[in-house]
Amino acid sequence: MTKIYGPGAEDLDRAARILAEGGIIAVPTETVYGLAAHALDEAACGRIFEIKGRPLIDPLIIHIHDLIGAKSLAAWNDWAELLAHAFWPGPLTFVLPKQSIVPALVTAGLETVAIRMPRHPVMRKLLIKCNLPLAAPSANPFGYLSPTRPEHVLEALGENLEFILDGGPCEIGLESTVLDLCDPLGPAILRPGAISGWQISEVLGIEILVKTQSMPEIPAPVSKGMPSPGLMHRHYSPRTPLAIRPHLHEFCRDEALTNEKIAFIAFQKPTERPDFTDSAAKIRFFWLTEDGDVEEAARNLYDLLHKVDRMNFNQIFIELAPESGLGAVINERLLRASGSAND
Ligand code: AMP
Ligand code: MG
Repeated sequence: MTKIYGPGAEDLDRAARILAEGGIIAVPTETVYGLAAHALDEAACGRIFEIKGRPLIDPLIIHIHDLIGAKSLAAWNDWAELLAHAFWPGPLTFVLPKQSIVPALVTAGLETVAIRMPRHPVMRKLLIKCNLPLAAPSANPFGYLSPTRPEHVLEALGENLEFILDGGPCEIGLESTVLDLCDPLGPAILRPGAISGWQISEVLGIEILVKTQSMPEIPAPVSKGMPSPGLMHRHYSPRTPLAIRPHLHEFCRDEALTNEKIAFIAFQKPTERPDFTDSAAKIRFFWLTEDGDVEEAARNLYDLLHKVDRMNFNQIFIELAPESGLGAVINERLLRASGSAND
């Protein structure tokens, strides 16, 4: 029985009905696929944590389709107003003081709430149709790669889900920028994403701090000192061990060239294929982009990692992206995926 449903009017009606009745469905967004529930229904949100195996200390992002919805959940301020006009709908999440209607479970007991207005047309239609705020973390088992296609959700969580709404491959392919707007001293990026600190700074006319330090593997109790509780040391990881090599030529040598259980992912298709000597060489060398387009690389990152993860290698070596713009965001995810993010 299929569990992936198209975005036609009948499918959207059914998706909205499931959500209104307290069910959980997977939804497309421009960043990654999400696991959605009615954000004010505590029992439904509890099921999200169960299905993902997500620790209760890791708060959820709530998705809305208009500013009225956003203001009903969060205490608004001038920065939020300016940024919403500049970047919403889009891949920017605000952290603001929460209104009392938001269940403590959703915010992991914090007094703040994360909200976003996504721009994916199917998600927007669904949000308007159901007219509910939707809590939706990425639709993957906790710690695993985020899904950027409906098939990724089916493969990892299909057993526990009846309905995956198909919105095609995600346009951006990396999780949203998370921006703390609570500190009167200035906004701070808690998780980098497609909207950069520079773009935010241009709109607000002030400097933007970056507070993206990583967390322990699974942090113990919620600590007030954690800027963004979900940012674990190891996150977004494939099951196959992943190691970073800053440059292609550093990982294409020695034993790696003859060991058919090692896969390589270059940032860009190289002009010359490395000098593999084994017969499997052709099927263990991959790249994120043909011509160095960093947006294409971002779109392909999780998809390619899912694909290579299914191929039963013992080790994946991956090259870092050029460290600017979206390349720096790709690298931040790779450092977490390989468990080598700095504390
Ligand atoms: P996900 O939806 O799986 O991409 O994860 C959402 C992430 O947003 C969490 O893991 C946190 O890092 C961040 N987040 C959500 N709510 C808050 C909050 N109230 N304060 C700080 N960070 C938050
Ligand atoms: Mg996630």
